[in-house]
Amino acid sequence: MAQIEETAALTHLEWDTPLFQTAVAQYEQAVPYADISEGVAERLRYPERAVMLSVPVRLDDERRVVFAGYRVQHSSVLGPTKGGIRYDTEVTLGECAALAVWMTWKCALLKLPYGGAKGGVRCNPRQMSQAELERLTRRFTSELLPVIGPQEDIPAPDMATNEQTMAWMMDTYSMQVGHAVPEIVTGKPISIGGSVFRHEATGAGVVMVIARACERLGWNLAEQRCVVQGFGNVGGIAAHELAARGATVIAVSDVSGGVLDEEGLDVDAMLAFEAANGSLEAWESGRRITNDELLELPCDILVLAAREDQVTEGNAGRINARLIAEGANGPTSFEGDSILAERGIPILPDILTNAGGVTVSYFEWVQDLGRLFWDRAEIRRKLAEKLDDAFDRVWDVSAERSITLRTAALVAGIREVAAALEARGLYP
Ligand code: NAD
Repeated sequence: MAQIEETAALTHLEWDTPLFQTAVAQYEQAVPYADISEGVAERLRYPERAVMLSVPVRLDDERRVVFAGYRVQHSSVLGPTKGGIRYDTEVTLGECAALAVWMTWKCALLKLPYGGAKGGVRCNPRQMSQAELERLTRRFTSELLPVIGPQEDIPAPDMATNEQTMAWMMDTYSMQVGHAVPEIVTGKPISIGGSVFRHEATGAGVVMVIARACERLGWNLAEQRCVVQGFGNVGGIAAHELAARGATVIAVSDVSGGVLDEEGLDVDAMLAFEAANGSLEAWESGRRITNDELLELPCDILVLAAREDQVTEGNAGRINARLIAEGANGPTSFEGDSILAERGIPILPDILTNAGGVTVSYFEWVQDLGRLFWDRAEIRRKLAEKLDDAFDRVWDVSAERSITLRTAALVAGIREVAAALEARGLYP
């Protein structure tokens, strides 16, 4: 018996990287509060499927290069798997596995009929032309055909991918099956079945969650001084929404560094500049600071909307915010998290705070399947209802069990998936 268990052990597999270990450590911290059976807990420790691909692409100068591509599907218990596609130099199987696990808890927490997935290609998208990115996307999509589908696994944008990437994916898939299949991806242009408000959903959702937290904490959001790391889809829109609600955004940053103005930045002018120039590097007003300095600025609300592993044991002791909101996935390491918990700085966790994106992706998929489209006000209202409901459940579990908001969010998500797994039983 012991020997059977030893050969069955799925630890130390290829996905067992530091980020995956963070996801596992968070899971182990939450499981004791979820009141689920060990058999179910064990099943949910590992992704159901992990695919590694080699993706050959012809460059503009006619050279051919082969990129590494991945797709990891963590759980299909509640429905198709769902998750972003990222293009980044750091993409690995373990990173995709960790992000897929978090997607499962996120979808379950929001009560969406999905499990988690994540994928990507290890490349430097900033060094590639649009034509190269199109060829990469189309070939990656063809290689993924056996494992994706509107009822199997539905990709969406993530770091360095966008509406255009999703349009290429949708077109490649549709050409293979012989008719338009808008429901194969979400986050695509409105002209081909995308949803209004999907583009803004993640960043706007981050601020809806912050606003709910401020209500619970008795703070007036309009009086808060905010710092936002990352100025892409999530961070840029979160900064805009914070400013629109009257908060003062004193600093923002992108990969080129940060800009600080204690009087408050003109966020919309910076967004226009970023759209025109592709980065904030040449932005002239305000004081230039590094990303490390930005994270340690004294402020009320720090929004982490760039990438994983930004607040770690190295800097968590010097974070000078009263509240942290995780717009990015996994921006706080396991050790960083413990230090912030000890210091009494609450963290609005990623699986709740950035769930606006997948929630409106779900609305997009439902609209595509029904070929019936809703207006912006309706989607915004439905999103706020979903996020408020999830926030309140997380807040209550956190208070009842005296655990952090992160552990409470995981507990709420794990319970949903575990109940479904328990009801379905183990096949065969
Ligand atoms: P994006 O590519 O649009 O933007 C990323 C931003 O972060 C850019 O401004 C980039 O310059 C900046 N950046 C990258 N590395 C940085 C660093 N080391 N320091 C400071 N800034 C840095 O990507 P996005 O879609 O905004 O995604 C950001 C994060 O949010 C990711 O963790 C992603 O997984 C997560 N997320 C995105 C969505 C979505 O709908 N786009 C949904 C949920 C979660």
